[in-house]
Amino acid sequence: MKVSQRLEEMQDSATIKMDQLARDLKASGKDIISLSLGEPDFDTPEFIKEAAWKALQDGHTKYTPVPGITELRKAISAKFKRENNLNYSIDEIVVSNGAKQSIANVCLALLNPGDEVILFTPYWVSYFEIVRLAGGNPVELSAGIETDFKITADQLKKAITSKTRLIIYSSPCNPTGSVFAEDELREISEVILAHKNLMVLSDEIYEYINFTDTHYSIGSIAGMKERTITVNGFSKGFAMTGWRLGYMGAPLWLAKGCSKIQSQFTSGANSFSQVAAVTAINEGAKAAAEMKKTFLKRKELVLNLLREIPSLKVNNPQGAFYIFVDASSLVGKSLEGIKINTVDDFCMALLDKAGVALVPGSAFGAQDCFRISYASSDADLIEAVQRIKATVEKIA
Ligand code: PMP
Ligand code: GLU
Repeated sequence: MKVSQRLEEMQDSATIKMDQLARDLKASGKDIISLSLGEPDFDTPEFIKEAAWKALQDGHTKYTPVPGITELRKAISAKFKRENNLNYSIDEIVVSNGAKQSIANVCLALLNPGDEVILFTPYWVSYFEIVRLAGGNPVELSAGIETDFKITADQLKKAITSKTRLIIYSSPCNPTGSVFAEDELREISEVILAHKNLMVLSDEIYEYINFTDTHYSIGSIAGMKERTITVNGFSKGFAMTGWRLGYMGAPLWLAKGCSKIQSQFTSGANSFSQVAAVTAINEGAKAAAEMKKTFLKRKELVLNLLREIPSLKVNNPQGAFYIFVDASSLVGKSLEGIKINTVDDFCMALLDKAGVALVPGSAFGAQDCFRISYASSDADLIEAVQRIKATVEKIA
């Protein structure tokens, strides 16, 4: 017996796979530092946890409305207005079990077989497989470190065909940390508006970890609301990965479609998580800003250490908690008799010889790079980069 063809064609999530490999090695007694998973190392702020205890005590233990409890959708609608200049009514908001589900809902609700979906590349690992599962064809539109991994409107214009239905990007970006500025998004939106069937999914889950201090939502540009799905969630900014809560704002017809899918797949998201999320969204700004400050310090720490390794190329990412390192100069060389044919080989050798887990860039459509997640303690970060340096120095 075997699984469906659909599943056979699907890759495992490389981020989760690498993290699991690191956990297994650690459990077997090896000294491993994992900078693989994109997960804040902070605990959820106490006042959010207290709101969840209270929600449980108050009896919020039942099924919830499929698109989310009204109180949370009201809070999200107000947040979109207040912080993003976006006017989504409550009916245009769907709460899901994580932003991951929001993205899957959108692809399943929107794509017909053979529809093309342009992924700004490097892209977040799951976009590719979700698009394929929904029957779409992912099209990679790539940018390298020279342009801070950001594609231009001109590039986009050339990549659009009569089959292009959707564009997906994240800003701040996972895996590169790049942030699109308002003028860049305005240029991109002009290209989108020139094609009447084209929509864009703007993944803004790292909104609160933006060191430029200006987060811009493409959906707020005149004419773009009808073309945009704005995805966001609680996992990153509020350190709530395990709570499984994300959301989107979308045109009513699409929000209804997503809700229909969710009604058959999972029903409404977790009851007490949603009640606590109202507290997070209304009162969490200070806590999120504190965590961002720490991330910024860590970014500086890791960047400065990486800059001391001449064969690795880094830029200066402006958000999220990742550094996307260009390691192409290592390819074709050897490490203690092991041939480094790809950056993937380097990552496996690094894990094996130095006990540091990273995610190879191939998982994000960028073979030349690897991703470091710096959502870890200073001590681990310093030790990990020292081990990377020592390993790279042995490569010749
Ligand atoms: N989008 C991006 C860019 C991410 O990095 C993540 C993190 N896993 C997600 C979406 C999904 O987040 P979650 O499902 O935890 O809300
Ligand atoms: N978004 C995180 C990452 O990129 C979590 C892992 C995942 O959901 O794939 O590592």
